[in-house]
Amino acid sequence: MLNCIQSNRITVPMKLSPPPPVLDSARVVAYAYVDDIAYRRCGKLFVDGILLEKVPRLAVALNLGMDLGAMLLHCDSDWNVLGVSGTPTVAATKTKAEENYPGVGARWIDIDTSVDAALAFYDAQHNNAKCSFCGKRPFEVESLVKGHGANICERCIDQFHGELHKPD
Ligand SMILES: [Zn+2]
Repeated sequence: MLNCIQSNRITVPMKLSPPPPVLDSARVVAYAYVDDIAYRRCGKLFVDGILLEKVPRLAVALNLGMDLGAMLLHCDSDWNVLGVSGTPTVAATKTKAEENYPGVGARWIDIDTSVDAALAFYDAQHNNAKCSFCGKRPFEVESLVKGHGANICERCIDQFHGELHKPD
């Protein structure tokens, strides 16, 4: 798909690339290019205390870990996530996005990445890093300590610590 941006009276063709199936540990279910939508300042999104305004890309995604509802990922043109908002469902999140990006409703491109495919992509992205003891992935734990050929998560460390220091 080709889109054009006007710069110094020269029209530069800009290739639009779709997002990867997983953004920030969330499975992408829809995305939209919103560069040219007339942005309205309705719902305000603050990221680290700074107001996040118009972005060129939006994605609706479902977290691979804990259920956080449907997340609206506000992305730059390389699909780096700049901010996250959302509602409980995909449909409601798309409707909500309409407040700031009128017309985006006609632009959503739905993608049907299965959870298994998303997890496979995530694993490849993270060099298959998992806790060697409980098998949890990085997004399921708070920290993963890497060793030679093995990793351990904070819960397994706590558990082993408890076992070692168990009163007789
Ligand atoms: Zn573990």
